[in-house]
Amino acid sequence: MKVSEIKYERYTIEQAQEAYNKFEEAISAAKCAQDIVEARKIILGLIVEFSTASSLSYMRYSLNTRDEFYIGEKNYYDQITPLVAELQVKYCEHMLDNPYRAELDKLLNPILFKGYEIAKLAHDPRNIEDEQLENAIVTEYSILMSQMLLDYNGKQVPLSIVRGDLTACDRAVRVAAMESIGKGLEQNAEKLDDIFDRLVKVRDRQAKRLNLNSFVELGYYRMNRIDYDRAMIEDFRKNVLTDLVPVVAKLKAKVAERLGIRKVMLYDNEVFSATGNARPKAGKEGIFEAAVQMYDSMDPEIGAFMRSMMAAEAFDVDAREGKWGGGYCTEFAKYKQTFILANFNGSSDDIDVITHEFGHAFAMNHSMKHGDVEMAIGSMETAECHSMSMEFLSWKYMDKFFEEPQKYKFQHLGSSLSFIPYGVIVDEFQHIIYENPALTPAERNEEWNKLEQKYRPYLSTEGIPYLEKGTRWQYQMHIYEMPFYYIDYCLAQTVAFGFLAESRKDYDDALRRYINFAAAGGTKLFSALVKEANIANPFGKGTLKSVAAEINTLLEELTE
Ligand SMILES: [Zn+2]
Repeated sequence: MKVSEIKYERYTIEQAQEAYNKFEEAISAAKCAQDIVEARKIILGLIVEFSTASSLSYMRYSLNTRDEFYIGEKNYYDQITPLVAELQVKYCEHMLDNPYRAELDKLLNPILFKGYEIAKLAHDPRNIEDEQLENAIVTEYSILMSQMLLDYNGKQVPLSIVRGDLTACDRAVRVAAMESIGKGLEQNAEKLDDIFDRLVKVRDRQAKRLNLNSFVELGYYRMNRIDYDRAMIEDFRKNVLTDLVPVVAKLKAKVAERLGIRKVMLYDNEVFSATGNARPKAGKEGIFEAAVQMYDSMDPEIGAFMRSMMAAEAFDVDAREGKWGGGYCTEFAKYKQTFILANFNGSSDDIDVITHEFGHAFAMNHSMKHGDVEMAIGSMETAECHSMSMEFLSWKYMDKFFEEPQKYKFQHLGSSLSFIPYGVIVDEFQHIIYENPALTPAERNEEWNKLEQKYRPYLSTEGIPYLEKGTRWQYQMHIYEMPFYYIDYCLAQTVAFGFLAESRKDYDDALRRYINFAAAGGTKLFSALVKEANIANPFGKGTLKSVAAEINTLLEELTE
């Protein structure tokens, strides 16, 4: 079946309640642990139905954020998601506390029970109204950003397209693109500040009701962080500052020299060569053709999966007005179907979509077919390893996509490395924001600029309209939509560097380890997964230092 032919039907709160009632009946009649395992299947069914309907509806909304019907459906799920979560928490309580718990522990993966405990900690029925409100505000931001048109070269253009020009070879083009972004955001400054302010307040209120110090803790619960804590993340950020930032600074100085510029400005950040970045040699059709060839030669199973996605028309990659501006991979569990959305803009980012999002899809597909709905592909740091590592395992085939694969590799590696300091800025910023919920918009921007100074001293926003005030974060949608998600990218990037290094020693072995990592999904914790794959743990002592050295050597090799 093609994705466009999947029939959308709303999954109602009444249906969820009915399923939950059946579960309660079953669990109160349970005579042994096995009966509870059976009862649990009713909830797994609920999760599949609910997630399929809400993700189908979200997908169709993101294709056209002006579609009144799917905006309505999205609003409906914004309202009922907290109510469904309430039912799920009741289910968690039953799973944690029943007469057969000891036996149950032997039948089910212990990770499930850790997840149930966290779900309980993150929940309070008194928060439901605020959770609904929070969802509605997030949607407000998403619609504002998707529908925002920027004045660019005398035309009205969506942000996702203008961003493509930040990789232009001609500096004047990059300046114009960045200025257009700055001015466009400035025109919406009041809305952007107001939306964020309401988000901070509504999140803070929920945390306080749970007797937590701040939303930071609740944010961590929501990210389902079982395996590492705040102190470890803080330590990771410190290591970035001491071990990685100097290497990135050196790289940026070298690039500045190549570009013949004195100072690297925010609009130079994505460019790595004086002759411009490597651009794919083909358009959309050619990229997909090359991707099929690549995955076929990589591994028969991966190739077959890519072909099945093509057959189902499970990609929507054309940038259009009104389309949601980012990229994502999602799944429709009931149909065991994955789907990828992107906004191709002719830059090398288009290739990253085919590799990054496809890495997600590969893991999702495996988990839908062989895994457990609740553990699925794991929490986000694990999921981003699937995607970011695939970006590097695709290196072997980059001649299919680029005239100058070496040039692409240099910029891909350079931007991946310089991404980490940016990622920790986003993470630390959110810690500051939620620990100080009373900050004014101007104070928030000041904090952002301080962090830029700390982690990206080699980069300047001076003179760029609006963005120089410290507002770069306002088009980082995760900050509004998915708090505390961002550090997961940094952890995963570190793991992906590990896979890159391994793939250069023995490609087939690294690929096999990657496939096992992805196939395990969420059935193991992050630390166990990296250990099993024999990749250095990002939290490990000295990991970032050795990663930085390794990447540095590789960058030097690629310059030659
Ligand atoms: Zn991703």
